[in-house]
Amino acid sequence: MTPDRFGRPLRALRVSVTDRCNLRCRYCMPEDEYVWLPRDSLLSFEELTRLVAVFAGLGVAKVRLTGGEPLLRHDLPTLAGMLGRVPGIADVALTTNGVLLARQAAALRAAGLRRVTVSLDTLRPERMREFARSTAHADVIAGVAAARRAGLAPLKLNTVVVRGFNDDEIEDLVEFARPHDAEPRFIEYMDVGGATRWSADQVVSRDDLLRRLAARYGSVTPLPDPGSSAPAERFRLPDGMTVGIIASTTAPFCGTCDRARLTADGTLFLCLYAERGLDLRAPLRAGASDDELARLVAEAWRGRVDRGAEARLAVARREALVPVSGLRADPHREMHTRGG
Ligand code: SAM
Repeated sequence: MTPDRFGRPLRALRVSVTDRCNLRCRYCMPEDEYVWLPRDSLLSFEELTRLVAVFAGLGVAKVRLTGGEPLLRHDLPTLAGMLGRVPGIADVALTTNGVLLARQAAALRAAGLRRVTVSLDTLRPERMREFARSTAHADVIAGVAAARRAGLAPLKLNTVVVRGFNDDEIEDLVEFARPHDAEPRFIEYMDVGGATRWSADQVVSRDDLLRRLAARYGSVTPLPDPGSSAPAERFRLPDGMTVGIIASTTAPFCGTCDRARLTADGTLFLCLYAERGLDLRAPLRAGASDDELARLVAEAWRGRVDRGAEARLAVARREALVPVSGLRADPHREMHTRGG
């Protein structure tokens, strides 16, 4: 399929399978109440699989299941299996907060899921209680261990670094990852929809993170980019361990972004920061053929000019992207609806 207006091909699809989450992370879902997608708007496994097949026909080879919290979706291993069997899909991965992972890791692997990324922002249960309003820290740790036992590899651990919250745990998180054969990845706090408490002073930049790692470990060597469009820059510590940094806020990578996002109700987003998406559910449920659906997606992608994170760099006084009232009026603007 033709690339977008900046020559970027469509190669990867993030599929959000639910907008619900069992955590309330301060950087993503800090409010007391949310407007949820109507239940009957959520796509069935068959509908999701059909859309993924349409995307595969347009060149998508990689699918990542996300949410909300994807493991809240009943019987996720079955969906992982269905998507893994779509011709052209070479890789199905999962991003999860890990709370429900221990009990599902083996079934996910058996269904064909290859890789998992677990969000782990702190090693301190009391911090998680305060920051994510959850007492499930031990379950997350058990989930990480279960993923490794189940052979879900490579295993990645994502940490959103927030100044004054967990920026004193960077080295501890690296050391935690080591015996789990996991790659720690540090993510800059982004001013996406839903991050209503975002402020620039809470962002710990890529450069700060590199300085911290160098102070503790010595030389931190950038690994050559294999030409992939992966968001993480990878670095090697002197002992061979690798660490990723995702600098979405201070050094965005829009120029190589080959990802589209599908929400649980079948809305296509071409950028995490996009104001509007394209409704694929209505034509799907009105009986559109695969060719017609493919035409809609291809047309949208061909016209894509989004460079959301780079555009934010140009904003002089940066604050939360969308006010709470805007999120209530359109929950599609929430990070937890778009899948991160
Ligand atoms: N619930 C799953 C999880 O926790 O991984 C999947 C959905 S979550 C929205 C996907 C990713 O987005 C997580 O790694 C999360 O930390 C990240 N995220 C959410 N809000 C963010 C923000 N304001 N800045 C940077 N990353 C964010």
